[in-house]
Amino acid sequence: MATRLRLKRGDTVRIISGRDKGTQGEVIRVLPRRDKIVVQGVNVRKKHQRQIQAGGRTMNPGIIQFEAPMHVSNVMLVCPKCNQPTRIGVRREDGNAIRFCKQCEAEIDA
Ligand SMILES: [Zn+2]
Repeated sequence: MATRLRLKRGDTVRIISGRDKGTQGEVIRVLPRRDKIVVQGVNVRKKHQRQIQAGGRTMNPGIIQFEAPMHVSNVMLVCPKCNQPTRIGVRREDGNAIRFCKQCEAEIDA
């Protein structure tokens, strides 16, 4: 079974491997089934767009930049409390899953 995805949109993560290693950014999309996330300004790809007609509108050709999804194993959450890249722990309280920082034990969403 795959590791459960514990990142959420709005989290700040640090890239720990690959071309963008060391940069930080905000999670803007989560793709739980693929264990992937999209991080603002990270893993930026360029796509050449041909001119297309869509619903009466014409999209101009050119180069589109977009952030490609990346696997969650390439990032670590940056704890909003201690500001360190950390692993995420989860504990149960009143039936809710509470995410906490494994460095300083602070609740991440508090
Ligand atoms: Zn912390």
